[in-house]
Amino acid sequence: MSTDLQELFQSNRAWAAKTEAREPGFFTRLLQQQSPQYLWIGCADSRVPANDLVGLLPGELFVHRNVANLLVHSDLNALSVIQYAVDALKVSHIIVVGHSNCGGVRAAMMNQRAGLVDNWLRHVQDVRDAHEGFLAGLHESLQVNALVELNVLEQARNVCRTTVVTDAWQRGQSVVVHGWVYGLHNGLLEDLRITATSATEVGLAYDTALALVKQRYRQQQAQVLADTTAPATQNGALNAD
Ligand SMILES: [Zn+2]
Repeated sequence: MSTDLQELFQSNRAWAAKTEAREPGFFTRLLQQQSPQYLWIGCADSRVPANDLVGLLPGELFVHRNVANLLVHSDLNALSVIQYAVDALKVSHIIVVGHSNCGGVRAAMMNQRAGLVDNWLRHVQDVRDAHEGFLAGLHESLQVNALVELNVLEQARNVCRTTVVTDAWQRGQSVVVHGWVYGLHNGLLEDLRITATSATEVGLAYDTALALVKQRYRQQQAQVLADTTAPATQNGALNAD
């Protein structure tokens, strides 16, 4: 086993050379300043590489990641990232991005114990408990991804409620908060449409997005029930989807 991780340094040298060849002066220009338009708040999951998913280069995306893409009101790390992004970098968009089959959300949903992280995931369980009735009505196969989306809505609303964002809105600075979800199975991002551009929009944006999530999962629930109760056809195949 390599202890000095030479393979990563080799890949790094190749990447830097390729980047410089494609765009001469790329790195020296980045030295002058970074001016990203977007702050990405995503999950730490290794399968969700922020820049790659949206095709953005170094310098174009400011990134904060933690387990289950949380914005906890007392998390000085995340709050500092938001403050620097909004006040210094003047990003135009803050995007909270969850992803399907999130291990952290799954553990929270199922009360799986993993150690210290359980305390962090307690925030996701608070989201779960707030929507207990809705989640309990869903087929087990739908519950984790439904909670992933509910969690995105909750965290996006938390972003809107930070002093940094409310102060920015109050002084007329343009900042748009978004909530998206990424499909591990297909590589596609979907907009959950909790888009807010001012403090007065947050409540309605949250309610509208929440209604859409519930509507979509109730449709999927109906489909799951239809699939599980439908008799097999003559060739033995059940409904294709
Ligand atoms: Zn995750």
